[in-house]
Amino acid sequence: MKKTISIIGGGASAIILACELDPKKYSVSVFETNTALGRKFLVAGDGGLNLTHSENEKVFISRYTPTKFLSKAFSHFSNKDLIAWINALGIETFVGSSGRVFPKKGVKPIDVLKAMEDKLKHQHVKINFKHEWQGFSEADELIFKTPTGNKKIKSDLTVFCLGGASWPVTGSKGDWLTIFKEKNIDVIPFSASNCSFKIDWPKNIIKIIEGKPLKNISVKCGNKIHFGEVVITATGLEGSGIYPLSPQIRNELNKKNEAKIFIDLKPDLSFDEMIQRISKPSSKLSYTENLVKQLNLNKTQIALLKAKLSKSDFLDPIILVNNLKNFEWTIYSLGPIEDAISTVGGISLNEISEKFELKKMKNNFVIGEMLDYDAPTGGYLLQSCFSMGKFLADHLSEPV
Ligand SMILES: Cc1cc2nc3c(=O)[nH]c(=O)nc-3n(C[C@H](O)[C@H](O)[C@H](O)COP(=O)(O)OP(=O)(O)OC[C@H]3O[C@@H](n4cnc5c(N)ncnc54)[C@H](O)[C@@H]3O)c2cc1C
Repeated sequence: MKKTISIIGGGASAIILACELDPKKYSVSVFETNTALGRKFLVAGDGGLNLTHSENEKVFISRYTPTKFLSKAFSHFSNKDLIAWINALGIETFVGSSGRVFPKKGVKPIDVLKAMEDKLKHQHVKINFKHEWQGFSEADELIFKTPTGNKKIKSDLTVFCLGGASWPVTGSKGDWLTIFKEKNIDVIPFSASNCSFKIDWPKNIIKIIEGKPLKNISVKCGNKIHFGEVVITATGLEGSGIYPLSPQIRNELNKKNEAKIFIDLKPDLSFDEMIQRISKPSSKLSYTENLVKQLNLNKTQIALLKAKLSKSDFLDPIILVNNLKNFEWTIYSLGPIEDAISTVGGISLNEISEKFELKKMKNNFVIGEMLDYDAPTGGYLLQSCFSMGKFLADHLSEPV
């Protein structure tokens, strides 16, 4: 006889799991609070659906915090496997110049979602919308709030795929922490990742710098350095150039209530080269005009330097270049969780086995962003969800 399996939540991790479970072995039901699957998946696709990254396994795995948590699942279902899986659904992909992987131009995120939904139909997965999981009954049944009243469901296996807590409008609210806490499962409160970082810019320069990018820079926090681009907002910084430093910034904020970041505004130029370039100003140019010309500085960079340095320091080439190479700012908090791309927190990794089973609740599994791990943007979040889903599906489908 087939076993019953309840998958709670209908995001990326749930979809691949349901697609890949052996339909001869399992009767699979998905329970989703919304009226549609994959709402966060569609939001993720708004600025281009970055499915994964093309880099090699060793580098790929090093992107996660903690680094080893995804090793087994990724070795089982890597970025190459994910690309092949998506291609087999009829969705062509391409690798962008940054190494990131996207659906081919013209293919919308909804097309990818529809292709996955077709596979769910083919696999005879039962999808139950408007089923909001509320917790466990005394007999350990799953309790769902539905438009026709509360339902209790007992299944042989349950997989929780409830997501993190960012973008709660998509349905992933992270309001289930207390349910697991009551079951004596160690849960960590959520905090934002790949989010905006709050900086108190001097008021007099906000009009000049707000909305402006800082391109081709490096940002350092603690012992980690990342190259890329950030955007200045009225209240801080955001963008792919700083997102990968989320764990270091969060750690410093937790320890010291502030985090120092050091920006190299000209990583392609050495200190000596910059000094040499600005040391022979043309008599026709002012000191600032010479800086702009020789170092290719823009108005935003000049405004930031002037706001930070005294007049005499600004006029001192050594202090000025030191600041260009090591521009220090203080982050005083993370931006709001609602606007973050992802979250850390949720179920502690200590609570799950190598196969993602809750050690204290046999036959109950947890995958996806519900778990307490961190990953930068760049396709690493979706890849982790897909790797965990496929890994678990294959494990559960193995002959016993
Ligand atoms: C703006 C934005 C851009 C992003 N861009 C990218 C990107 O380009 N590349 C990338 O790799 N990642 C990206 N991500 C992250 C990625 O979308 C997520 O990491 C991924 O979707 C998480 O999948 P999941 O299955 O763990 O959870 P989710 O996709 O969040 O799914 C969880 C599901 O559970 C349902 N649910 C929650 N509570 C209940 C309940 N009590 N009962 C029933 N159902 C419930 C929710 O409605 C939801 O459908 C982005 C995220 C955001 C917000």
